[in-house]
Amino acid sequence: MFINHDYIYNLLENANKATNDEIQSVLNKAKAVKGLSHKDIAILLQIKEPSQLKELFKLAGQVKDSIYGNRVVVFAPLYISNYCVNNCTYCGYKRDNHINRRKLSREEIQEEVKLLEKMGHKRLALEVGEDPVNCPIEYIIDAIDAIYETTNQNGEIRRINVNIAATTVDNYKKLYDANIGTYILFQETYHQPTYESTHPKSLKGNYEYHLTAFDRAMEAGLDDVGGGVLFGLADYKFEVMGLMLHNEHLENNFGVGFHTISVPRLKKAEGMDLNMFSNILSDDEFKKIVAIIRLAVPYTGIILSTRESKEMRKELMNYGVSQISAGSCTGVGGYREKEDGKDAAQFSIEDDRSPLEVLKELVDDNFIPSYCTACYRKGRTGDTFMKLAKSGQIHNVCTPNALMTLMEFALDYGDKDLYDKVQKTVISEVNKIEKNNLKNLIFNNIERLKQGERDLYI
Ligand code: SF4
Ligand code: SF4
Repeated sequence: MFINHDYIYNLLENANKATNDEIQSVLNKAKAVKGLSHKDIAILLQIKEPSQLKELFKLAGQVKDSIYGNRVVVFAPLYISNYCVNNCTYCGYKRDNHINRRKLSREEIQEEVKLLEKMGHKRLALEVGEDPVNCPIEYIIDAIDAIYETTNQNGEIRRINVNIAATTVDNYKKLYDANIGTYILFQETYHQPTYESTHPKSLKGNYEYHLTAFDRAMEAGLDDVGGGVLFGLADYKFEVMGLMLHNEHLENNFGVGFHTISVPRLKKAEGMDLNMFSNILSDDEFKKIVAIIRLAVPYTGIILSTRESKEMRKELMNYGVSQISAGSCTGVGGYREKEDGKDAAQFSIEDDRSPLEVLKELVDDNFIPSYCTACYRKGRTGDTFMKLAKSGQIHNVCTPNALMTLMEFALDYGDKDLYDKVQKTVISEVNKIEKNNLKNLIFNNIERLKQGERDLYI
């Protein structure tokens, strides 16, 4: 088993004795942007000194900037079925909860997608509970087809990332054939005893089957996979080491590790009490985790959801987060219900601003919000993508694509205030680019967008 619990306990125990000098030398090493060893990561997890924490945060922001530039990718989740045969102790959709179970019809899915497109979204994360009878793979494949097919004036979904339960190679092949972006699956916790107690008597309760899901996905050809942990279930230090070992296992066996890592924190949900959980993180611990992941796996995207407050999201954007959701609903049919003033969610969210509001703040904070979906449509996935990221050249495609998709948003979904901000951003960002041909390409494409063309990318 590649998550060796004793190995992790030993690493953490030894790192516990790390001196400030040892911590400092790991921080210095991280500046080279080459990733860190297990021992280094375990040492960074011990940081307590405010001055070293500050340095860690600053460094994480610089590392993210040096690889991806200041773009932040924006997406939304789409929940289409809350049927679930599992009983995860932390989840509002667990089978013991007497909630209204439903799944959306093809027409209802298209109605939700139109509402998402009206908000300007181009990237979705498709979410379902696990239920082989009520929500079989055929239903998922049909939903993906319905989403790609749905347009609303200039609106279209260009990339669907999919978050479904661990399954078979055959089912993953079906997802591959359906042209998905990233296959996302959270391990929830790498700590086996905690995994087994929080997933009692259920399909999902098989730790090893869940842990090896990405091996089967890779075998099926899905080379873009996104991992994650639900922070708050087990000791966060153990979880970060688990993520690293999992990533390394995939790199060693398939040549490519996680495309993204999600960092959800346990939140209050229907039928659960946060007091039942003894590993709830403080905000400072959470910030430390995000920054350490950024230094440990510099090329992996870090995704933050609307579970976090707008203040926390704003801060973490400076410590290495590279993707955020915006305008999210976490209930089945939630976008229609929100329009009607109702919402039944899987968990509670903290940041309920519209994408337009989120984008304005990002631009004000000198980020470039991006709806870019270029890499997967250009075939830059798996190790092809990682090679480009590791060459230090990915920002040469991220920045132009971010600016073009931002202008597209401003033209189709923005108000005058956003449009003016975006104009200024385009000029100041293009002026920072050294290559003349790239500058010309961006200016040229921005003009083409203003003339009515859409979906320009490199
Ligand atoms: Fe079902 Fe997923 Fe919730 Fe577990 S976390 S109860 S599998 S929807
Ligand atoms: Fe992501 Fe590639 Fe677009 Fe950059 S160019 S934002 S890595 S899809």
